[in-house]
Order: sequence, then structure tokens, then C-alpha cells
Amino acid sequence: MDAASAHPVPARHDAAAFVARAEALCAGRGLRLTELRRSAVLALAQSQTPLGAYDLAERMSQGQRRVSPISVYRSLEFLIEIGLVHRIATRNAYVACEHAHGLDETVVFLICRSCGGVDEATSPALDRSLEVTAASNGFRPRHRIVELEGECADCQKTATTAVALA
Ligand SMILES: [Zn+2]
Ligand SMILES: [Zn+2]
Repeated sequence: MDAASAHPVPARHDAAAFVARAEALCAGRGLRLTELRRSAVLALAQSQTPLGAYDLAERMSQGQRRVSPISVYRSLEFLIEIGLVHRIATRNAYVACEHAHGLDETVVFLICRSCGGVDEATSPALDRSLEVTAASNGFRPRHRIVELEGECADCQKTATTAVALA
């Protein structure tokens, strides 16, 4: 795995491209990217950090009528189901998925405690190991999400510099 695939975050800046991908994905499956869903996709793609449902409702409400949390949850449910958005359980927050990976692939979130940034990675090794664990318990997983909490590479560098300067 090269450095780019291990650290794939910068794509999140291109919100327009992400909305276009959402549109293409829905069209390809005969689904409708309603105005509400589209606005959720855009708000999540524009955010540098995961958004809670209420934050998201706030951003989707700007300049138009208020969007109710229930509508936001419905949109999120749809977007999670088609693989455009992930829920981060430990943050109770949502992120746009930039990776176009398979729905059955294990997603590993690397959550930074210092800056709140979230990187997403996939791990074929973890896929296999979770497969065995689930199968031996007769369990059929729907979403495979692993969340790791710690410090991102940038924050570790900052911390090291601060120690060196002290
Ligand atoms: Zn993803
Ligand atoms: Zn960080």
C-alpha cells in the first residue's frame, strides 16, 4: 500500500465532484437523488470533519426552509445504504465516503483526538479476519466498520515539535 492510499483524505475538498458521483451512482441504480439528499451530500462533502445530524440539519437549512432532523436521518439512512456516507458510532457523526470501495469491505476510521480529523482506510487483512470471526459465530454482518482513536500523523508532528521547543 503506498502513502496515497493510506492517507486518502484530500479528495474531500472537491465537493462538486462528490455530488456528481452521488448523482451518477443513483442514476445507475434507478434511484433518485432528491433535493434533500443532494443537499446532505453537499454539506457532508464540504465539511472537513464528521458532522452530527443536528449540525447537518443546520447546514442544510441555510437559505431555505428549515430541514427537520427526521428528514435528515432519512436522507442519511439512504446515503449510508448506497455507500456514499458512513456513520462514525463513537462520534455519533457522519462522513462522506470518497473511496468508492465495495459495500462489503471493512472500513477503518482513524479518528484523531487532537484535531477531530478522520481518515478512512480499508484493510483486506481485516476483511478476512472479520469474515472468519463472523462466520464462526453464524453472524452475517451488514456494515463492517472499525474505529481507531488516537493522534493523526500531523498532530504527532506538532506534539513532537512542541516538546522539542520546550
Ligand atoms: Zn468509505
Ligand atoms: Zn490530528
